[in-house]
Amino acid sequence: NLDIAVLAVGDELLNGEIPDTNTAAIARLLNACGYRIREGRTLPDQEEAIAAALRELAGRHQVVVVTGGLGPTRDDLTARAAARAFGRQLVLNDEALALIRAFFRDHDLEMDPRNEKQALLPHKCTVLPNLRGTAPGFLLEQEHCLLLFFPGVPEEMEAMVEAELLPRLDALSGGHPPLCERILKIFGLSEPKTESLLEGLALPEGVSIGFGVDFPLVHLKLRATGAAAEELLDRAEVQVQRRIGDFIVARGRETLPQTVARLLSASGLTLSLAESCTGGLVAAWLTDIPGASTFFDRGAVTYSNQAKNDWLAVSKRILHDQGAVSETCARAMATGLRQSTRTDITVAVTGIAGPDGGSEDKPVGTVFIALSANDAEQAKGYRFSGSREQIRKISACMALEWIRR
Ligand code: ATP
Ligand code: MG
Repeated sequence: NLDIAVLAVGDELLNGEIPDTNTAAIARLLNACGYRIREGRTLPDQEEAIAAALRELAGRHQVVVVTGGLGPTRDDLTARAAARAFGRQLVLNDEALALIRAFFRDHDLEMDPRNEKQALLPHKCTVLPNLRGTAPGFLLEQEHCLLLFFPGVPEEMEAMVEAELLPRLDALSGGHPPLCERILKIFGLSEPKTESLLEGLALPEGVSIGFGVDFPLVHLKLRATGAAAEELLDRAEVQVQRRIGDFIVARGRETLPQTVARLLSASGLTLSLAESCTGGLVAAWLTDIPGASTFFDRGAVTYSNQAKNDWLAVSKRILHDQGAVSETCARAMATGLRQSTRTDITVAVTGIAGPDGGSEDKPVGTVFIALSANDAEQAKGYRFSGSREQIRKISACMALEWIRR
């Protein structure tokens, strides 16, 4: 397994101005490809401190990734510190200068003489092009360590991790990511319940299981190493699927809303939503996804009885006799909206998210979901528990789950 360290540089990271999201972003990108970070550090823009840390990290790790401090201003000292750390001269790098000039030309921007400073790099480094910004990165080979320097701007840094870092890690590790991971996202089972349902499963040798929670989903992580890792994971996934397949609502990087969006797009069906206690959460999640307009027609946030009557034609009698939080009302909301929108599917959610408003027969967490479609009309009640936020999230996931099914 490659031994990788990350060093984030910037005064702003240590005076509370901004959080260091770069280390986390690098960790996420590397993790997705099977690499782990062994050590992460944060330092202010101080030449000596950076130089000392670079020497030390290079002595202990195979790869050191540095972000920040490559900018054109006086406080950006990373290149200077790198030169100092390894006894190299800081020289004007022609290749870097050409890249910076080209960036300004291509973007029709005027170049400040100060930007030339970004081409002052340690002697004999490899320049790493930055397609999204002015500061090129660079690479140093120092004895047994590879040091890569990236700009601090998150989107520039992330693009360079993909283009410059990952291919080099793959080359160093012989083309096989040391660890492959497959995430199965589970809705409707707790972590312990999931584990107990998988008890006694004879997974292929070399496959391990990990758990994580992204409320209200449980993430089951199947991991394997080596050249046959993907095949081992395929086999393990089939086994898990047989036991708890009904509860797996998404896999890999895809979220539940993304899964639902993909399925709806593929089916050509259109969707409308009538949301009460979720207040538009389901619609917000779905419309977060580019291309949602191919299937999503509209969402009605009908919070009051009046709104349910005006917009969804829920009869006053239902609202009075059964109440807005009832199976009958959920059903009437879904059919009412579908009749006026003529969408293929309409889902309605109504419930009590709390913390107040519960009663003996309808405690906080009572939620009804209904679905109306050409060939089916269904409604069901649930008793969720948790905070207001949790109940709303579970309800929204359940609504999506109804659509997915
Ligand atoms: P540039 O030439 O674009 O200025 P740079 O290498 O000099 O690149 P910095 O000046 O250190 O980068 O930071 C540029 C921007 O990126 C700043 O807005 C800074 O807040 C942000 N940034 C730097 N480091 C991090 C980090 N670790 N996490 C999140 N944001 C960061
Ligand atoms: Mg800076």
